[in-house]
Amino acid sequence: MRAFYIAPFLIFAICGQSPVLAATVELQAAVKLDPLAEIRETALKSGQAYALLESLTTDVGQRLAGSENDAKAVAWAKAKFTELGFDRVYTEPVRYPVWTRGEESLVSVSPATQKFSVAALGGSMGTGAKGVEAEVVQFDDYKNLESAAAGSAAGKIVFINYQMLRTRDGSDYGAAVISRVAGASAAAKLGARALIIRSIGTDQTRNPHTGVMRYDNTPTRIPAAAIGNIDADLLAAMIKRGKPVTLKLQLGARTLKGDYVGANVIGEITGAVKPKEIVAIGGHLDSWDLGTGAIDDGAGVAITMSAAALIGAQATPPKRTIRVVLFANEEQGVYGGKAYAAARVKADEVGQQVIAAESDFGAGRIYSLKTNLSDARLAGLAPLLRALAPLDITLGANDAGGSADFGPMREAGAPVADLQQDGTKYFDIHHTARDTLDQVDAEDLKQNVAAYAVFARFFADE
Ligand SMILES: [Zn+2]
Repeated sequence: MRAFYIAPFLIFAICGQSPVLAATVELQAAVKLDPLAEIRETALKSGQAYALLESLTTDVGQRLAGSENDAKAVAWAKAKFTELGFDRVYTEPVRYPVWTRGEESLVSVSPATQKFSVAALGGSMGTGAKGVEAEVVQFDDYKNLESAAAGSAAGKIVFINYQMLRTRDGSDYGAAVISRVAGASAAAKLGARALIIRSIGTDQTRNPHTGVMRYDNTPTRIPAAAIGNIDADLLAAMIKRGKPVTLKLQLGARTLKGDYVGANVIGEITGAVKPKEIVAIGGHLDSWDLGTGAIDDGAGVAITMSAAALIGAQATPPKRTIRVVLFANEEQGVYGGKAYAAARVKADEVGQQVIAAESDFGAGRIYSLKTNLSDARLAGLAPLLRALAPLDITLGANDAGGSADFGPMREAGAPVADLQQDGTKYFDIHHTARDTLDQVDAEDLKQNVAAYAVFARFFADE
C-alpha cells in the first residue's frame, strides 16, 4: 500500500504494471502471510486426512479396546505421526478390562419364528450356551422400567422400546442412551432374565447399534443386547397382537480376566516460543467392532493428525506446542481421557493447557465453535472468527464440555472448546456395521481439517 501512495508512477515505470495491479499483488502477498488464512486454504486442498482415514480403516480395521487390532492401531499411530514429521511421538499407558463379543443370535420362538439382527452391548455378560428363552415384557422407556412394580418382569426378557430422535446436535442421545447404559440393572431389579433394547439410533434399518452398558451394584446381572429399529418395529408389532411373545437370546460375550495395558498415542509439533504451553486436539483411537470405526472415531483421529501436520509444514512455526492426543478406549469408559487428565494433574501440568478440543462426532461439517473461556480471552477471538467465517462456522455459547476425552481435563480446570459438527445423520450409523469409510464425505472432511488447523494455529499464537 505504501508503494501505491508514494510512488505509483515509479512502480509503473519500473515494473510495467499498473498501480492497481501492483497493489493487488501486494495484497495477495499480505494474505499469504496470514498463517490462519494460509492454513485454512492449504487444508481445504489437502487429501491427507482422507488418506489417513483410509489407511486406518483398511490397514488396521475395527479397533475394539484390548483386541489384537488395538495394539495394531497404536503401532499405526506412532508410525504415522513419525511419517508426518511430528517433532515428538510418545505413548502413555492406559489400563482397562477386555470385553469380547463372541457369537450372538436372537430368534422369536412363538407365536411366529423369526431371526432378529442383534448385537450384545459392550460390557454385557453372555447367556451361556443354552441361551435365555423367555416371554417378553415391553416398556416404553427407561423411566417406565425404573418405576415399574417389583416383580413385574420376573422370569421375562425386558424390551425397552424408546425411539431416539434425530437432531443436528445429537441432543436426544443423553435421554436415549440411559436405556443402554443402565437398562440391564433396572430390569434385573424387576426379576428379568435378559434385556433387549431398541437401538440407540435414528436409522430405519435392521442394523443393531452396540455401545457400552454398565452393571450397578444390583446383585443379579443379566445379559443385554440391542436390535435394529426395523426389528424393534417388528417385535413391537408382535407384542401388540396380544399373544405372549417368546424370544430366545444367545450371547457369547464375556469380559476376560485381568487388565490390558493399552496406550494414548501422542504427537507434538513443538512451539517455537512457549513450548511448554499446550494446544491439545485429538480423537479416540479405539472403536466398536461391528464396522471399521470410520466416523467413530477414525475421522477425529485423521482430522486432528492432519490439522497439526499441516501446521508443522508451515513456514512460520507455531509459538506454542500443538499436541495431538489419540485416546485409548473411549468407548468402554473414557479410560484414555481419564488417564490423560490424571497424568497432567499428577505432574501439575493442567495449567499449561491453553485449550483442548476433541473431534468425536463423525465427519459432518462444523458449524459452530463453543468455548469455555474467560471474558478477556473471548474478547480476543475476532481474528479466529474471521478466519473461520469462510468455512461457515460461527461462535456458539461459552459452555463447551470438551467432548468425552477432554472432559476430565475440563473438570480439572483446563479451558476446552467444542467444534460442533452437523450430526443430523451421525446416529444413523454410530456403533453399527455401517460405520465404514464410504460414510465419510471427502469434502466435508477437508472442512473439518481446515477448522481444526485454524483453531489450533490461532490458540498456538494467541
Ligand atoms: Zn466416539
